[in-house]
Amino acid sequence: MPKKRKSGGKSASHKGQSTTVQCANCGRFIPRSKAKQVTKRVSLVDGRIYKELRDAGAVIQRPTQRVYYCVSCAIHKHRISQRAKSTRKT
Ligand SMILES: [Zn+2]
Repeated sequence: MPKKRKSGGKSASHKGQSTTVQCANCGRFIPRSKAKQVTKRVSLVDGRIYKELRDAGAVIQRPTQRVYYCVSCAIHKHRISQRAKSTRKT
């Protein structure tokens, strides 16, 4: 069977088996080198309360959260897009 990619879609090619992470959308376990990492800001308080507190002069921190997606979920959620056939890596 022909191989689609030389690396199998993973970035850490010569490190053996990498640790697994869970996809945030579908729950599939995928190697960390293959997963797509997305950082997003999360609000600790509700949106309406956030506005009230901000108007009162409070400083509310919005920490960043690291989220992993499998390739199919990342494409479905438009986090990554497919490369053109001519620019695809071999
Ligand atoms: Zn997934």
